[in-house]
Amino acid sequence: MSNATRLAGSNEIGVPVPSIARVGIIGAGLMGNGIAHVCALAGLSVVLMDVKPEQLERAMTTIIRNMDRQVGRGAVTGAEKDAALGRIDTTGHYAALGDCDIVVEAGTEKEEVKRAIYKAVTPHLKPSCMLASNTSSISITRLGASTDRPEKFIGLHFMNPVPVMKLVEIIRGIATDEPTFLATRALATRLDKTISVAEDFPAFIVNRILVPMINEAVYALYEGVATVEGIDTAMKLGANHRMGPLELADFIGLDTCLSIMQVLYEGLSDSKYRPCPLLVKYVEAGWLGRKTGRGFYDYTQTPPRPTR
Ligand code: NAD
Repeated sequence: MSNATRLAGSNEIGVPVPSIARVGIIGAGLMGNGIAHVCALAGLSVVLMDVKPEQLERAMTTIIRNMDRQVGRGAVTGAEKDAALGRIDTTGHYAALGDCDIVVEAGTEKEEVKRAIYKAVTPHLKPSCMLASNTSSISITRLGASTDRPEKFIGLHFMNPVPVMKLVEIIRGIATDEPTFLATRALATRLDKTISVAEDFPAFIVNRILVPMINEAVYALYEGVATVEGIDTAMKLGANHRMGPLELADFIGLDTCLSIMQVLYEGLSDSKYRPCPLLVKYVEAGWLGRKTGRGFYDYTQTPPRPTR
């Protein structure tokens, strides 16, 4: 047992904290581009990897647009934006992540996809490289066990949109060591995020509570309790939520919401988490929300029009 491991959980004095200068991000979707954005603005060197070149292109367009907005409202200077953009490399090859101190995986929310990513990337990583998953729901212990470095594997769960949302959940797997936890916590702090530490149970904190609420809203629609607009208006004005649950589902991605419900249903073996058949139907139709232009609302219309 290493000194660091022995000290874990007692106090932090004497526990070495690995430094992070270069961050790899796998998956340049909704979350990957946001994570690249905040890391680059914080002065870290970033390599953003995706198997789809068009996703990398889209991600860079989004990052530039979002940084321009920050410049517009005076949160960031033009020089800071240019310097941050200069710190982001994009790649279609796992080998380009070889000099990273930490790799944050933000690939599709499917366990087999994540396992395939780890299998492909780990042979290229330096031995000291930590591996974090942005998974919304999948067991960190199980994901970590599928890699060659479970002690350096951790959950680092950003919220959407990453540049705006202050929270990051940090989840230790059973094997995660203290230096990895401390380095990840220091990284989140450097990114100006507030941390909640969650135990490794399905969907952690935010999604354990939020996604069943969204699923219940879909049930309310399915059972004809109210229309899409009726449900969203009720929750905005009646519960003081910034977004209605169906609008929020479209924002998160209906495929991601469904995957989280499936993980809760299977992981906790409780029928109260069964996904609503209507949510399943939308996903089967490829109506995944904003990212595909159609979910509970049709985003090709201005303002977006309910699809039921
Ligand atoms: P997304 O579908 O927008 O992006 C996933 C990306 O992964 C795609 O660009 C895809 O091309 C890429 N990818 C798939 N297989 C790959 C592979 N083998 N190698 C490299 N890249 C690959 O998904 P997202 O919404 O960005 O979610 C990513 C992760 O973040 C998921 O685990 C999700 O649960 C989590 N998350 C999502 C949200 C949200 O609101 N959408 C919030 C917090 C966390």
